[in-house]
Amino acid sequence: MHPPGSLRIGSIGGIDVLVRSSWLLIAVLIAIVLAPRVEVVQPGLGALKYVAGLAFAVLLYMSVLLHEMSHALMAKHFGLPVRSISLHFLGGMTEIEGEPATPGEEFKIAVVGPLTSIAVGLAALAVALFVNDGLLGMAVEGLAGANLVVGVLNLIPGLPLDGGRVLRAIVWRGTNNMHSGTIVAAWGGRVTAVVALCYPLIEREFFNTPPDVVDYLLACVLAAFLWGGATASIVSAKARRRLPALMARPLARRVVAVPEGTSVAEAVRLAREAGAGAIVTHSHDNEINGVVSEAALLSTPEDRRPWVPVVSIARTMEDGLTLPADIAGEELIRAIGRTPAEEYVLVESDGTLFGVLTTLDVDRAFQAGAHQ
Ligand SMILES: [Zn+2]
Repeated sequence: MHPPGSLRIGSIGGIDVLVRSSWLLIAVLIAIVLAPRVEVVQPGLGALKYVAGLAFAVLLYMSVLLHEMSHALMAKHFGLPVRSISLHFLGGMTEIEGEPATPGEEFKIAVVGPLTSIAVGLAALAVALFVNDGLLGMAVEGLAGANLVVGVLNLIPGLPLDGGRVLRAIVWRGTNNMHSGTIVAAWGGRVTAVVALCYPLIEREFFNTPPDVVDYLLACVLAAFLWGGATASIVSAKARRRLPALMARPLARRVVAVPEGTSVAEAVRLAREAGAGAIVTHSHDNEINGVVSEAALLSTPEDRRPWVPVVSIARTMEDGLTLPADIAGEELIRAIGRTPAEEYVLVESDGTLFGVLTTLDVDRAFQAGAHQ
């Protein structure tokens, strides 16, 4: 269910909190980078100086978690289900299902994250006024600096940054078109990626500080992250622009319902007779209880078909396998995502059987739409 390489460390308010394996890498990196500074502030710690660095990494990511929690809670406030929060190499990510209904909601869900980071940064800064020496002082100062930087940088108007979503909401409100907002904000992200890549040169030209290897490396990683995220947004916006045209009803195959005791051979004969492209099974009391898998049917040898009961190659009906015949667009894609299957049974609003929708036909229709 969760992506590979991620560890669930708990859940807050019903939202799973995951740690990606790449987080361990950054934690170790932070520990190594901080160790010499820890040595200066508190000499003689030995190997414990790395533990202090790791503890700081954990503290830092607790504040990242606060940032992500604020997105998650705001999304839940607007009725959007939140799947999980994951912490990774470059920070965190909140996986929200569906889209905000209005640009106002999008704006609030996006902007609350950076504002939370800035608030945490300012709070840490206030604490730093009182605790300003020793390891604790160093940690509080580090926390203040990191959160202020994260908060401000995240307001840069380019996807996948929060500021990109803010820009998207503004363009969405102005043009009344969510996808135009995405395209504009994604281009903002690409421009930001190029600036990030050039940052070491900017550092040298304008701030007179010669960049080192770490600067170049960080610039490359950041630029790749930004460019990749922005490009993914453009691709998905273009794909989703075509979605409203995707409707289940015209894609449905004519279906024949056979009693569950029927053999495969007989079911195929009945389907041919009815000119049907799909078969469902029904129980004695006429309830649809299975949908025949085309793949399983094709792999049943001709000479075995008279002896194999059709139920044995049918998928037993469950909740997500029945869809309304009028389902379309994003709702259709989301329904497929919730209950992945090869075949779905389409029913009319009064419950009568309309036909069978195959994922293959949906894919084909979508691909055909892409070449128009
Ligand atoms: Zn954020």
